[in-house]
Amino acid sequence: MVILLSDRSGLSEVPASALRLDVDGAALASNWRALDTLSGTARAGAAVKANAYGLGARRVVPLLHEAGCRDFFVAHWREAAELLDLVDPRRLAVLHGPMNDAEAAFAQASGVVPVINSVEQARRWVAAGGGACHLMVDTGMNRLGVAVAELGDGAVQALEIDALLSHLVAAEEDTPLNELQRERWMAARGLVRHARGSLANSGGIALGAAYHGDLTRPGIALYGGVPRAEMGPLLRQVARPQAAVLQVREIAAGDSLGYNATFVAPRAMRVGTVAMGYADGYLRCWSGKGAFRPAGGDTGVRLPVVGRVSMDLTILDLSALPTLGEGDWVTADYDLPEAAAVSGLSQYELLTLLGRRFTR
Ligand SMILES: *Cc1c(COP(=O)(O)O)cnc(C)c1O
Repeated sequence: MVILLSDRSGLSEVPASALRLDVDGAALASNWRALDTLSGTARAGAAVKANAYGLGARRVVPLLHEAGCRDFFVAHWREAAELLDLVDPRRLAVLHGPMNDAEAAFAQASGVVPVINSVEQARRWVAAGGGACHLMVDTGMNRLGVAVAELGDGAVQALEIDALLSHLVAAEEDTPLNELQRERWMAARGLVRHARGSLANSGGIALGAAYHGDLTRPGIALYGGVPRAEMGPLLRQVARPQAAVLQVREIAAGDSLGYNATFVAPRAMRVGTVAMGYADGYLRCWSGKGAFRPAGGDTGVRLPVVGRVSMDLTILDLSALPTLGEGDWVTADYDLPEAAAVSGLSQYELLTLLGRRFTR
């Protein structure tokens, strides 16, 4: 008998994964509202690039829209294409801008707004037909953006600019660079016609009204990141990685576990293996440092990671909860400021690392 692998008609539903990312929609909406309020007379938009920082853009965007958010930013054209049925393309912007004629043509056809980052991109956009765009002005990052000195260029002056953007280098710190960038951005605002000004990312929103312009662009803080300590009380955790316990075993004092036997049991222990590993973004830096809690159970019970995190699996010390068994779910400790301090990863990396195998 020949089995056609492409014929899936005989398959029932694909079984649910033993790995899921719990996204708290109410916390996400509450974070957006808090940032919109903190933005004063400016409106808060949302950076939803990198699959909404790993949380799942197709789930996050409608939740933000429902909360009142209207302006969305992605990095790549491909990311915009995946959201076209969910938002008004005229309020969806691509930060990388049109790199070639095909991208400019896609923007023209779809209505998605390009962010113009160079004189070259300005010429390309005008040649493709022009229309509303945003302009990124470099005020100190030296990464993407038109220099202030180039703003008089004919191609830049010919643009129909909705938002004049710049991006802060270190909004999470108190550094003179913030004020220097703000002054350069204000100077740029005097040199080109535009409808709206936009400077602040998440951290920049806390720097005060002078940084707000008309539109702010929070990313990490929407998703529970805390760029500046004073924002902590306003923001709630949104993303919680969860995995099922695949197997439980009793080990004796002196037994080792995991790769390279980095952990040797000091006493008889009950340990559980869960379906999350470094291939999922739960990196080896969590070995011997991370912890999980029973999902939906007593979150006061801490189940430490023992031994080395492997590709698909992590071993937990279950001694504190003898009732936890195979098939039960656990939640990783993943409050972003705390998790960053423990792991040495940035709050941004912690979210964007989370892999494809999570059900979102
Ligand atoms: C990613 C990004 C943001 C959002 O930054 P956060 O620090 O996550 O708030 C805003 N503006 C631009 C241009 C970005 O690239």
